[in-house]
Amino acid sequence: MHKHSPVGDPVKKHAHEHPVEENDSPVHADHRVQHRFPEQVRFCALCGSEMGMRTVLPDHKRFKVCGRCGFVFFAGPKLVAGCLVIDAGRVLLLRRGIEPQVGKWTFPGGYVDFGESAAAAALRETREEVGMRVELGRLLGIYSDPIRPIAAVVVYMATAAIEEASVTDEATEVRYFAPADIPWDEIAFTTTRDALRDWLAQDKAEQRA
Ligand SMILES: [Zn+2]
Repeated sequence: MHKHSPVGDPVKKHAHEHPVEENDSPVHADHRVQHRFPEQVRFCALCGSEMGMRTVLPDHKRFKVCGRCGFVFFAGPKLVAGCLVIDAGRVLLLRRGIEPQVGKWTFPGGYVDFGESAAAAALRETREEVGMRVELGRLLGIYSDPIRPIAAVVVYMATAAIEEASVTDEATEVRYFAPADIPWDEIAFTTTRDALRDWLAQDKAEQRA
């Protein structure tokens, strides 16, 4: 949660350097706006001066660089973490309640916060999205959309604690799917599909072994 300034009109106090009004109402990230990132970043996050494209050593790659303080904006893929919760050979999927891909199915997961481990994020997101405490098992894999690899999705295997999954604003429907019942035509992301395929392939290999 964002900490907002205490009473005493701090907005006015800093008005000369931050002429933007504070707005305390919660907001969903608009993914259409987020996708303008990083090409349309214009000003330095540290000092507020204009940024321009420059070649950065030692790799000679082009990045936005602040003309005043020298801050280099190293935009990388966002890290996402989630898990495949398995019960009696079935996988837990949720129907997304929010954009992007609202109404489609995926596994619980979300962005790893700055300063948080991928494993902790997978646990937290599962708790938030489907109200379930889980125990993480092995790492299944790390997935990126091959067309637009703006995120790296770390996927763990997991087993549920005793509680049942529940629906939330982020997950309008939650249920376990047997491999034959997975709704392939309604899967939210390429990374969801790839992780599920890997799980199924490994599951089959283990059964043969
Ligand atoms: Zn700067």
